[in-house]
Amino acid sequence: MKNLVLELTRIVQAVAMVESPEEQVKLIVDSISEYTSADVCSLYRMNDQLEMHLLASHGLDMPGKVVIPAGKGLVGRVAQTKHTINLGDAASHPDFYYVQGSQEELYKSFCGVPLVRNGKVIGALVVQSALAEPFNPESEAMLLTLASQLAFIVSNLPSSTSHSEKNLRASGIRGAPGVGIGRVILCDSDELAQVADTSCEDIEGTIAIWRNLLLEVGSEIDSERKALGDELSDSVAAIFDAYQMLLADRSFTNMVEKEIRAGHWLPGALRLTVHYFAGLFRAMEDPYLRARHEDIQHLGNKLYRAWRGGSAEHSSFTEPVVLIAPQVSVSAIASVPPELLAGVISFEGSSLSHTAVLANAMGVPAVMGVGEIKGIHSGGLVIVDGNEAHIIFNPTKVVAAEYRRILRREKKLVAKLDQLRDLPAITRDEHRVQLLTNTGLLADITPGLNSGAEGVGLYRTEIPFMVRDSFPTEEEQVQVYRKVAEAYLGKPVYMRTLDIGGDKQLPYFPITNEENPALGWRGVRFTLDNIQLLMTQVRAMIRAFIDHDQLHILLPMVSSTFEVDTFIQLLDDACLQLQEEGLEVIRPKIGVMIEVPAAITQLHFWHKKIDFVSIGSNDLSQYLLSLDRNNSRVAPRYDHVHPAVLHEIKRVVNTAKRYNLPLSVCGEMASDPVAVVLLLGMGVRKLSMSAAKLPQIKWLIRSLSMAEAEALLKRVMKVDNVERIRQKVNKEFDRLELREVIH
Ligand code: PEP
Ligand code: MG
Repeated sequence: MKNLVLELTRIVQAVAMVESPEEQVKLIVDSISEYTSADVCSLYRMNDQLEMHLLASHGLDMPGKVVIPAGKGLVGRVAQTKHTINLGDAASHPDFYYVQGSQEELYKSFCGVPLVRNGKVIGALVVQSALAEPFNPESEAMLLTLASQLAFIVSNLPSSTSHSEKNLRASGIRGAPGVGIGRVILCDSDELAQVADTSCEDIEGTIAIWRNLLLEVGSEIDSERKALGDELSDSVAAIFDAYQMLLADRSFTNMVEKEIRAGHWLPGALRLTVHYFAGLFRAMEDPYLRARHEDIQHLGNKLYRAWRGGSAEHSSFTEPVVLIAPQVSVSAIASVPPELLAGVISFEGSSLSHTAVLANAMGVPAVMGVGEIKGIHSGGLVIVDGNEAHIIFNPTKVVAAEYRRILRREKKLVAKLDQLRDLPAITRDEHRVQLLTNTGLLADITPGLNSGAEGVGLYRTEIPFMVRDSFPTEEEQVQVYRKVAEAYLGKPVYMRTLDIGGDKQLPYFPITNEENPALGWRGVRFTLDNIQLLMTQVRAMIRAFIDHDQLHILLPMVSSTFEVDTFIQLLDDACLQLQEEGLEVIRPKIGVMIEVPAAITQLHFWHKKIDFVSIGSNDLSQYLLSLDRNNSRVAPRYDHVHPAVLHEIKRVVNTAKRYNLPLSVCGEMASDPVAVVLLLGMGVRKLSMSAAKLPQIKWLIRSLSMAEAEALLKRVMKVDNVERIRQKVNKEFDRLELREVIH
């Protein structure tokens, strides 16, 4: 018997090397049958009707045809009992179920293990052998261990890979929210990688062509940037700057020339250079930097297309389209009129890709990292569901009609909610609530105002820091913050000091080698250790708001009095410096985020030193529940209406009331209807959320009475689990007939 761990590693690695799901599952069943000396190894997947479909088999030549009815046979029993069944004589078991034509009668023994994902059975792995004895313990252990790895692969397999298959689904990572339907345009984004090599006849002539090409593509990028319109935010414009910077990068351009001089024709020299630089970035540890390899590949292909002639990626469009590619380039997005771009799907990439950043800023639904999907072809219809991070290719008429209905309903709803824009968020019994917006990209400023935001409740300054290549200077920050101040003239703006670390990394200052980044050097801990950055930022904020009495500075991740005191000292120094420089300084209000549990208990120590508090429910829930907010494995357990979170938030609200400390909530909780009712019941009167969610929350507040919210909260505070809490509130929504808008 071979070493189990080594064998497992070998199989998992081999599976990772093959791309198509059919090949993956076939490789798995072949390897397992070899390892266990089984005559048959079969992999089953359970469908919604609880039937078991044979996905792949070594030994039974019928995948795709064998379907075991729900609860039938030994395979059904494995799924039902959720444990291994290992028998020497399967046919004598009362649950044995013979599949016609399978020739299973040849095999005596049977060992089946369930495949489980997120606590639910999703399939089964079965081995059979002609020997009439149970499989040995090593084989059983291997099946059990492999099944846990397999469950992940099987759950990510598309339901079918056939071209004509309807409702071909795939899941990925959320790139940008929203739902879109359109015709597929497959962009072959890596033509350069396919070019063959050939020798260069005229080296000096080729180098001259290369230099011209750089100029030509430089102006093409400028035109694309213009095509996207003036309302582009600085952060999105920075993506185009990144391309221009690459074009001007001497190490990049020199390497192409070096390869030409070494005898390669221009496309060959370009391919080698792009391959080299993309590889450098791909190998980087920092996820933001790693994602930058896409920029290099996009640029390489753009140069290649320009050299080949016929540059435009797509020209004429008459109906909504969805762009699909291994990595949809920013140029491809720019080539489609924005009103016809229904969505973006990338086989690769992450939510940090520039593609996702741009899609978000343009309000185009995007799903990233779906993996390569066989069967998708240009011209087919596809649904992009950016909310749920999945796509449906070739939907049936019924499914497409359902999504069109959702789209129409959303449009109608938007129009209806739009009418509330200038009306106050006031409950039926006349309690006023202030609704603010969360922002960070300059592109988000107008949506906030358009949706009726009464100010900015959270400006995440790390976002303008993230889309750059170096720390912005004081003057550069003044320019960015001033745009916010001017847009929200006379309205409050809560600017948070730089909140990096944990899952938020700067490309030029990666914080690595931390075993526990969520508990590490982040937020105010980082900025107080880099006080020069904080001083520059605070000075820039005060300068940007010099004529406006509306600046509130918010400190992230505060957990000690030392941090509060040190910041106050720094703020006093900054005000003094600027006064000495001749400015008429208005001292901003200062507040702390309540997002580390330690802040809750200490709030009463700080109430005289600060002017307000803001509850960051995203991190607060993460730390109270010890559940990583970005870990998809524990995502179903993460919920901000968990009783532990609700009771702690109530404690914060009570403390703030006692000391007359203004309080707001600025995490995702503030835009979740279930949570909002409970927050209102506690006495929260200030909520900050993304612009897109604001109209719905305003509608909810205007449809409720505070008395109803308070009564509901009283009942909910006695409940000990999330499911019942959500049920109770949703029942109340039904009773109040609020389902039209909240679903
Ligand atoms: C929060 O933690 O709730 C919050 C608003 O901050 P961020 O999501 O930016 O960490
Ligand atoms: Mg936070």
